[in-house]
Amino acid sequence: MSVTGARGTVAARNPGRLESGAVLVADELVRPGGAAVECRAAALLAGTLRRQGAATVRGPLHLDADADAGEAGALAAVLPASGGGLTGLGAAAADGDRAGRTAVRAALAAWLSVAGPREVVLAAPRSFCAGVERAIEIVEYALEQRAGPVHVRKQIVHNTHVVADLEARGAVFVDELDEVPDGATVVFSAHGVSPAVHAEAERRGLEVIDATCPLVTKVHAEARRFAARGDTVVLIGHAGHEEVEGTLGEAPDRTVLVETPADVEGLRVGDPERVSYLTQTTLAVDETAEVVDALRARFPAVRGPASDDICYATTNRQDALKAIAEEADLVLVVGSANSSNSVRLAELARRSGAPGHLVDDVGGIRPEWLAGARRIGLTAGASAPPHLVGAVVAALSGLGPVTVTEHETARETIRFTLPPAVRPSS
Ligand code: SF4
Repeated sequence: MSVTGARGTVAARNPGRLESGAVLVADELVRPGGAAVECRAAALLAGTLRRQGAATVRGPLHLDADADAGEAGALAAVLPASGGGLTGLGAAAADGDRAGRTAVRAALAAWLSVAGPREVVLAAPRSFCAGVERAIEIVEYALEQRAGPVHVRKQIVHNTHVVADLEARGAVFVDELDEVPDGATVVFSAHGVSPAVHAEAERRGLEVIDATCPLVTKVHAEARRFAARGDTVVLIGHAGHEEVEGTLGEAPDRTVLVETPADVEGLRVGDPERVSYLTQTTLAVDETAEVVDALRARFPAVRGPASDDICYATTNRQDALKAIAEEADLVLVVGSANSSNSVRLAELARRSGAPGHLVDDVGGIRPEWLAGARRIGLTAGASAPPHLVGAVVAALSGLGPVTVTEHETARETIRFTLPPAVRPSS
């Protein structure tokens, strides 16, 4: 059996210890002589198999010189990789598991059909912003410094991996304050909370550590100021988002929420001469401009914030994405589905003409997206950890040689100081 540079499948030795329904996804292929080939795209294959209902385990898979690939329940392929090396792809179903065997064949065939050389263009800036880094550090310091449990109201930032990691390190995530025992420590998330939540925490004697991003705090201050001068405050944002709930709570009787230009048409205000607007920090810049234009057309005297509420990180990530999307066959955005700025990035990619997909991590990538996609634009929302982007690049390099370039449109140097409650003494 020769597998050097092969793209077809060869039989592998079923490890024989798999439970029915479980599928082994190879981390490495071990050749009959004992030499191993790394399987860099294992997470892609595992994601496909999990979507088909299989429970996946990871481990080495041994190529079998004598077995027939047409019959085998364990299959593998070896592909050329960057720099003249090799990369592998393989999986095995348990003995007698016909459904698992069918799934292995289909998944392997799907990924092999899109194997080949690619170019990955990274957008820069991407991934964590200063507000997210600060919020995560606050929870980390609180865990280090507090003897008792550290509760976090809502997801500290909208990313499943960040939340799972902090949970594994001891943080207790809750939806509302009534889940926090009296007198305990609670961290408020980066998205901010309404004054009513602060008041409730004080009444309950909770130790509050506020991880609200300073740029969200700025919008809250504007809401109070605009409302205090007697204006109707029009908040442009998405209904139900935690940041919007918090900002609306600053002046609930004077604030109205709009999402689209059509919403502006239906607005009823007390005095058209006394209208101000604010925005959620993580909106699409171009779509928000359309809503502001509609407000100006309807209320020529409308006043806005001194500087944009859409934050520097959101703006920079959208500009960086636009710079790469037009030339890309496919854009992948790493981020969670409830992350507003990540969702906006995927939408922006599609408006720029490239198929754009949001994935929580590498396991969410589907083989059909890669068909014909030789140039892939890659970015991540402000709440998505940078290592997840690295994992996507590594996995793509398991399908063939990959060249990686970065297109930088801005350099970010902003850092926010930690609140006194957790600031380490220097
Ligand atoms: S996206 Fe903007 S507003 Fe949100 S945490 Fe980051 S810097 Fe702050």
